[in-house]
Amino acid sequence: MVFLDLQNLGKAYGDLVAVADFSLAVAKGEFICLLGPSGCGKTTILQMIAGFVTPTKGRILLDGAEISDVRPSKRGLGIMFQSYALFPHMTVAANVAFGLEMRGIPAQERAARVGEALELVQLGHLAERYPRQLSGGQRQRVALARALVIRPPVLLLDEPMGALDAQLREGMQIELRAIQRKVGITTIMVTHDQAEAMTLADRVVLMNKGAVEQVAAPFEMYEHPNGRFTSTFLGKANVFAGVVSGEDVMVGGNRLPMGNASASGDVDYIVRPEKLTFSTRSALISGQVAVRIFLGQHWLYQIETALGLVQLTEPNFGPPGAAEGDKVGLTWSPEHVRVVQRGVAS
Ligand code: ATP
Repeated sequence: MVFLDLQNLGKAYGDLVAVADFSLAVAKGEFICLLGPSGCGKTTILQMIAGFVTPTKGRILLDGAEISDVRPSKRGLGIMFQSYALFPHMTVAANVAFGLEMRGIPAQERAARVGEALELVQLGHLAERYPRQLSGGQRQRVALARALVIRPPVLLLDEPMGALDAQLREGMQIELRAIQRKVGITTIMVTHDQAEAMTLADRVVLMNKGAVEQVAAPFEMYEHPNGRFTSTFLGKANVFAGVVSGEDVMVGGNRLPMGNASASGDVDYIVRPEKLTFSTRSALISGQVAVRIFLGQHWLYQIETALGLVQLTEPNFGPPGAAEGDKVGLTWSPEHVRVVQRGVAS
């Protein structure tokens, strides 16, 4: 069942096409992450859903009704943007109550709902504090409570964790995911952080230059990237430009197995660093270790080969498999390879 339906949305600022032609059908309760590099049009899409930016073309339907021309305040969506300024002269409780007051909710119900929302974000004990007496993470939770307390049909989040340091951010991501599941609220979030998108999203919408590159669940997108851009934006990847020859792909003078992929002509041959292993006997390519870096969970190698610099990661079990300067053979299983027609996706 489609709950939020974005149909052929486009936005141009003069000659600049911020969003080309964007369609997405979002199910009730789904968590969507709009992911992509700076300037790809993510925020513009969110602003069009919120009603702050008027689309040049396309329609927006919420629960079957068109809202394209409805004023932002009448759309009643929960919004938490990058700059989620709280009212400094109001307590936490008053900040959260504000939206309810505007909607004329009676005092008793207001108090109950504010209490509920603050419990949800685990801030019940800080209701009487002022924003300046809170940490960055706590302020961010107040903003989330403020967005949720009006019980909006859709929650819109634009880089909500942009101001938090890395460690706090990770904790908040897991917390946000738990809250979103508990409330069951349909959520659209903008982020340029691929790890954040993978942690939170049911489906990731990966964008580039105003257009969609791929829409998929995180695991699906990681395992089956549809091209060079997706494979390198979501995680790390070795991408070799090659030409299909029978059952194999020729990359330079090397014949690489294609598995059961079906492709022809010019292709990108994609294999993730963790799918590569060192091999003395059945090596597909050989090279010399240029760099080895310890990253805690694994070792990262950069290996000079005839195909260029290749990356390999090795789990941190026991001693590492090679040292800098070593001559090594590399292998991988054909089933872990993605072969994508070049020019289909950039
Ligand atoms: P970021 O992650 O940096 O916020 P984004 O993916 O959210 O980027 P948008 O903010 O949607 O990107 O911007 C998309 C494009 O539209 C950019 O090239 C931007 O410069 C342009 N743009 C956005 N708003 C306006 C505006 N009001 N007037 C003119 N150009 C704009």
